[in-house]
Amino acid sequence: MAKHDADKDGDGAKAALARLVMSLRSQGVSDPAVLNAIETTPRELFTPDLFKERAFEDSALPIACGQTISQPFIVGLMTQALALEPRSRVLEIGTGSGYQTTILSKLARLVYTVERYRTLMGEAEARFKHLGLTNVITRFGDGGQGWPEQAPFDRILVTAAAPGEPKALLSQLKPTGVLVAPIGRGPVQSLNRYTGDGKGGFTVETMTDVRFVPLLDGVAKEP
Ligand code: SAH
Repeated sequence: MAKHDADKDGDGAKAALARLVMSLRSQGVSDPAVLNAIETTPRELFTPDLFKERAFEDSALPIACGQTISQPFIVGLMTQALALEPRSRVLEIGTGSGYQTTILSKLARLVYTVERYRTLMGEAEARFKHLGLTNVITRFGDGGQGWPEQAPFDRILVTAAAPGEPKALLSQLKPTGVLVAPIGRGPVQSLNRYTGDGKGGFTVETMTDVRFVPLLDGVAKEP
């Protein structure tokens, strides 16, 4: 990354974000609303101090609790695959840094997001507050169970790798809803999109290979 990208003030950050968006577009993220949401989200707010200089690189980076903030290209691809509408109510599993949540909040009506680490949830909530987001509802808990009290959802995004078809989550999707999730037990998973057929069934498309941290059972015992 060029040295001036490390200058996060004003023009340096803007230029770095514009370059990132160009790179995403060249990799196939074409939805202008998605690209705009990425271009207007200051990713350096979501990365630990140690990695701030790399915030505008198109790569995943470590965050607290041994987790990662997703690669911007994958965030763009997953968000585009969801085909969000302004009225969508979205469930996100795996808040992590809150970066993906923030992108969703710019494109949907309401975002419900679940995280199993209290520390990550607290840090993400502080960022949402700082950014003035008013349509994000957070929950510390096991996202594998979804959020039954708020179901059904128009869209569901899982940002941790599910070992197999996420049945509990699919049952909380509207009949013509869309769920996007990495599926697989190994270090490399398939990014799948499930689209409801309106009759209780789904079509499944496999989009690309991805590397996500696993979706784990229960809440974390560590803070
Ligand atoms: N989308 C995030 C990246 C998340 S990394 C970002 O943009 O920063 C995956 C996250 O899923 C981790 O924070 C991990 O703790 C969380 N996670 C894993 N299993 C979970 C579960 N069962 N319920 C809720 N969160 C879970």
